[in-house]
Amino acid sequence: MELPSLLGPGRPAQAGIARSELTRVLRDSAASHGAVLRTALTVAQTVENGTSVTAVLSDGTTRDVDLVVVADGAGSKTRELLGIDVTPAYTGQMVWRAVVPRPAWADRLFTFFGPGDNAGLIPISAAYAYCFLTENLPTPDVLPDDELADRMRERLGPFGGRVAEVRESIRKPEDVVRRAVNTVLAELPWNAGRVVLVGDAAHTPSPQLVSGAALAVEDAVVLAEELARTPDVLEALDAFGRRRHDRAALVVEASRRVARLEQAGQQTEVPGLLGRTHGALAAAI
Ligand SMILES: Cc1cc2nc3c(=O)[nH]c(=O)nc-3n(C[C@H](O)[C@H](O)[C@H](O)COP(=O)(O)OP(=O)(O)OC[C@H]3O[C@@H](n4cnc5c(N)ncnc54)[C@H](O)[C@@H]3O)c2cc1C
Repeated sequence: MELPSLLGPGRPAQAGIARSELTRVLRDSAASHGAVLRTALTVAQTVENGTSVTAVLSDGTTRDVDLVVVADGAGSKTRELLGIDVTPAYTGQMVWRAVVPRPAWADRLFTFFGPGDNAGLIPISAAYAYCFLTENLPTPDVLPDDELADRMRERLGPFGGRVAEVRESIRKPEDVVRRAVNTVLAELPWNAGRVVLVGDAAHTPSPQLVSGAALAVEDAVVLAEELARTPDVLEALDAFGRRRHDRAALVVEASRRVARLEQAGQQTEVPGLLGRTHGALAAAI
């Protein structure tokens, strides 16, 4: 697929990166800005105090802060705590991912439509790419971890050409993940007082749009801009939600439509929909 380039001619339309690398970049950047990272903790409760909010953590300690940013993903438990009522919706598809050596031809996103499933390849570094496979399945299930590589090769069996070439390199079960695809779109407001949802906790598209992480990063940028614009945190959170909702909804709704088209065997309509959605996403945030 040729996607629209945001940075102009000669620049890639998208950049793939391994999750481990993205995590390293984000952690190093946070540390260089003086952030103290603490893991294996959660927010058990939040109490609004008018001009601040108290977060009660799972180790029993408390923090009085100006703002709590909740980024705990599609299955967010903190969302429930805030009374923001949205249940992740299963799209009827399971996605497979396997890290494979990057073939010389893999210089962009490739999608291949099979008789039932769809597959493709996305480069994530000079040496590696990931091969994806979308499986239509009315009720999600779980396969034994140690069978994942064999089962993925089997499901890729009907494909020829480039997929067949890549398929043979899927050998290690630990390089393969298989997940049920759930989507989420919370209606506004995304905040309850000084506690705000960002990323998948507010909006989870299915992976076909390859944009969930990009939306999450955009949320962080826009939230920082709005907080810099006014000392009134509640006003900033309101402006943040209003700037982000429609763009996130565009992606989530397009991703749900892609899932429906694929399940209806109307894959030929998918590239056009993906192209139009990515074209719309090229607008300024
Ligand atoms: C198979 C698959 C492929 C994908 N491919 C792409 C792609 O190619 N491109 C793209 O842009 N996006 C892709 N996505 C989407 C992308 O992974 C998500 O949109 C992105 O990770 C969302 O980031 P997040 O920080 O909001 O949430 P997450 O990455 O889900 O992070 C949430 C974090 O919160 C932690 N947590 C959970 N509950 C609590 C709690 N109660 N308290 C404290 N911490 C908690 C979790 O451990 C986790 O570390 C894909 C998703 C899937 C499932």
